[in-house]
Amino acid sequence: MWPSRRRKATVTCIACGTSVERDQAREYDKHGDRWDRDGKEFEYLCKPCDRDLCHHPRGELEELLVEIGTGDRTQAEFLSWYVALVEERYGPLEET
Ligand SMILES: [Zn+2]
Repeated sequence: MWPSRRRKATVTCIACGTSVERDQAREYDKHGDRWDRDGKEFEYLCKPCDRDLCHHPRGELEELLVEIGTGDRTQAEFLSWYVALVEERYGPLEET
């Protein structure tokens, strides 16, 4: 039995930095495979951030990457093209 005063384990949300109780957090696996747990350290998201993440539209990303010609460019070139194109379509990246 755990002593009743023992604090619950907390984790930090990687998106907003809030500390949440471990059992209230969602595991986030940057490798995209939460079921393969061998030798992995998971990161965590609080529920509101997890919810935001799921609602993020990702449908256009693939198309965007093809349009930029991801494979044919250096990383620096790619990043500046990517940022320019995203800003052109979706507006400036900085929060206002
Ligand atoms: Zn969060």
